[in-house]
Amino acid sequence: MTLLVTTSWDDGHPLDRRLAERLSHHGIGATFYCPVTNREGLPTMGSADWRALAAAGFEIGGHTHDHAYASRTAPQAWAEQVRRGKAVLEDALGAPVPGFAYPGGEHGAAAREAVRASGHAYARTIDNLHGDCGPDAFRMPTTLQVYPHPRDVLARNYVRRGQWRQRAPLARLALAHATLDARLDALLAHGLAHGGVLHVWGHSWEIEQCGLWAPLECCLSRIAAAVPRERRLTNAGVLQRAGLIA
Ligand SMILES: [Zn+2]
Repeated sequence: MTLLVTTSWDDGHPLDRRLAERLSHHGIGATFYCPVTNREGLPTMGSADWRALAAAGFEIGGHTHDHAYASRTAPQAWAEQVRRGKAVLEDALGAPVPGFAYPGGEHGAAAREAVRASGHAYARTIDNLHGDCGPDAFRMPTTLQVYPHPRDVLARNYVRRGQWRQRAPLARLALAHATLDARLDALLAHGLAHGGVLHVWGHSWEIEQCGLWAPLECCLSRIAAAVPRERRLTNAGVLQRAGLIA
């Protein structure tokens, strides 16, 4: 069975440089979703960093101009946030930016439509415990966040986010293990046996805050050992393989 692996990293924090260095070391594909500034006060990278990441083969995606949340932003201001974020990245990169990730994973029909209307080709959610890339390019799901969620939080998240039947196999696996390390291992083994997509995502600032560099390193080296290089893709690369975007 063919397993595609992708990773994605939100918020464009300067620690993404360290993350990119580890991803490059293991030859793991990734998409970095970067706001231009962050209204919550977290530092963000600038044009030179985005260009360096792109030059290293990573994909850069939009994350609104200043990390605006769809539910707390009026429709016109939301559309403007999405459009401006994309325009600044494209100016810096001199290349199109097809991808977008909804800050906080917040998206309703109108928010998704604004992302589509701004010229993005796809958008990633934070829906988890999926083993494929789903049918809708504007609701690309993920598999697991690099975060040490306690079991009860993971279980509540499973219940709250719906699509229970599709998510049941991976939910069962994730809940059977107490640590992030063991969960990622089990999900990778399942992906290798059944094929599909393993989509690991997170925030570099959170990896630092929670002391997760070591488990991340384990995860990346196991992926690199088990999955051929040509199947370790960016988010756009996975959607292209699936025929969901051009
Ligand atoms: Zn974010």
